[in-house]
Amino acid sequence: MKMSTTDLHHWGVAGLAQAMAAKTVSSVEATQHLLNRAQAHTTLGSFLHLDAEAALSAARAADAARAAGQAGPLTGVPLAHKDIFVTADMPTTAGSKMLANYRSPFDATVVARLKAAGAVSLGKLNCDEYAMGSANENSAYGPVHNPWDTQRVPGGSSGGSAAAVAARLLPGATGTDTGGSIRQPASFSGVTGIKPTYGVCSRYGMIAFASSLDQAGPLARSAEDCALLLSAMSGFDERDATSAERPAQDFHAQMLTAREGATASQPLKGLRIGLPQEFFPAALAQDVNGAVRNALAELEKLGATLVDVSLPRTELSIPVYYIIAPAEASSNLSRFDGVKFGHRAARYDDLIDMYKKTRAEGFGAEVKRRIMIGTYVLSHGYYDAYYLQAQKLRRMIAEDFQRCFTQCDVIAGPVAPTVAWKIGEQGGDPLQAYLADIFTLPASLAGLPGMSVPAGFGEGGMPVGLQLIGNYFAEGQLLHTAHALQQATDWHTRAPAGF
Ligand code: GLN
Repeated sequence: MKMSTTDLHHWGVAGLAQAMAAKTVSSVEATQHLLNRAQAHTTLGSFLHLDAEAALSAARAADAARAAGQAGPLTGVPLAHKDIFVTADMPTTAGSKMLANYRSPFDATVVARLKAAGAVSLGKLNCDEYAMGSANENSAYGPVHNPWDTQRVPGGSSGGSAAAVAARLLPGATGTDTGGSIRQPASFSGVTGIKPTYGVCSRYGMIAFASSLDQAGPLARSAEDCALLLSAMSGFDERDATSAERPAQDFHAQMLTAREGATASQPLKGLRIGLPQEFFPAALAQDVNGAVRNALAELEKLGATLVDVSLPRTELSIPVYYIIAPAEASSNLSRFDGVKFGHRAARYDDLIDMYKKTRAEGFGAEVKRRIMIGTYVLSHGYYDAYYLQAQKLRRMIAEDFQRCFTQCDVIAGPVAPTVAWKIGEQGGDPLQAYLADIFTLPASLAGLPGMSVPAGFGEGGMPVGLQLIGNYFAEGQLLHTAHALQQATDWHTRAPAGF
């Protein structure tokens, strides 16, 4: 495809980086073009903060660095960050009233690394409050609309990231995934997203929701673009005690590395893909099942073999996650007390009253619900029955995966039981959203890497994602598998009408 400045929003991270290296387009041109698009599509609600001036000055600096022969792998490529990553040069809200007007004194490691690789940040992207949600309906700053059908949700909690990438406002964006928040919005919005193994990306400067589960990752329009972004974002960070101590990874090179025994027409020859029977229940929506099966048939054509496996505790992952995540959240969110930063109630009688009013005003309903659940399951008398029991089951869920990985190399299934629902359709019933997390929670609890790859369309023409789950640190294998699928199919290249 010939690059023209009128269609450069269709170019991905790799395409733009190559075009900038070849000097067919400058970072200033690309940045200005995408800023114009973001301004033309504000009704999507994907951006919480768009900083044209800062973006253009970063783009000018990127062009100057390139002219001076100092370009990095992402020099000049425009991106934006989920508003859960703190940034020194832009506000950070975490989708909460509690942090309205908050500005961090430092950049999150993920933000700093992308900056160091040369990426230009356009701004901050909408998300569920403190990343708690599956539809971006819990943001204090309003919902995000799915570009495939603006009456529907984009998924969550990285809903702004997914919608902006799907609408071609950005070639890629950062997201975070605690129980599915990269994979599920990627699936609902028809983009590609990867949550790496716990510990691969630093959590430093990522506003904490559930620290034992939170992971950062990219959303983009292809596995290749995700590989480029993840290589820049990831790596050991001494500021995060749970950061994995391993050398920097070139995920793009890993993605391109041919499998042993692979042929040109069968790049996945010998790859065993495990299908957990629990991921294909009778209640799975027919359109989702159909699309996932089509994608699996494509993977078979590429040489993969499908094997039946079992993850018997899949259903238990819902109560286990909805005990552990709120427990950690109730502890993490205690820092928002109105004393050192964030919102503080205007009028109060004494210190306790100040805490109470500040938190009652600053937090939304879902966040309050989780703080209460978390406090309850950690309280004396219930700790053993709930929290400790959940921890034991979490370990068993992780062991189930290890059993599966003796029979297969990669696990596949749907990302979510349905396509994106209508905004407001769940009528504020939180249980419906919790239950819809069933296929993403197991890998999160086990700390395993997971991906969502576009796999066609279902009801109402809405996108469906195929989930791929790998063993620890097998991001390269997931990206290789997804890339092979994307070389053979074009679902990931489709754009929503009007974008
Ligand atoms: N939907 C899940 C929740 O509401 C996951 C959110 C996430 O991964 N941040 O907790």
